[in-house]
Amino acid sequence: MYKDVLLPIDLNHESSWRKALPVAVAVCQQSKASLHVLTVIPDFGLSMISQYFPENYQQEMKKQALDNLHALTRKYVGADVTVQHIVGEGTIYQVILETARDIHADLIVLASHRPELEDYLIGPNASRVVRHATCSVYVIRE
Ligand code: ADP
Repeated sequence: MYKDVLLPIDLNHESSWRKALPVAVAVCQQSKASLHVLTVIPDFGLSMISQYFPENYQQEMKKQALDNLHALTRKYVGADVTVQHIVGEGTIYQVILETARDIHADLIVLASHRPELEDYLIGPNASRVVRHATCSVYVIRE
């Protein structure tokens, strides 16, 4: 049914994957789909603050994020699912939408928001992804 499932993960918040990752894995197993896990880090680039960081800071942060994504999938994704690990840089919802287009995702699975933000029904990134994605979006309620 699905071929390419995108799971955006906030590595700083376990709530972004605790419930969503098993759902995404189950969908991939059922559909024999590939799982694409994505995390987005800020792009300091040529910004004012970039001068206060060591030269290779962005590259190091990217490598660290990639290692963390690999560690997560090693632990929670079985060998029966093909996984692609992606670290994006920039504005979170924009990178999620761009990546979904690039990999021709037919489903995005994401958590609605952090549990501590109880008043939210859906967080700022999740809501923008739902509004603008051209594929189906599976929102996992916290
Ligand atoms: P909240 O502000 O409560 O975290 P968001 O809408 O920002 O709500 O987060 C909901 C979902 O957006 C997360 O579960 C995750 O799927 C995605 N997301 C948030 N931050 C990132 C990030 N840095 N990289 C990738 N995906 C993210």
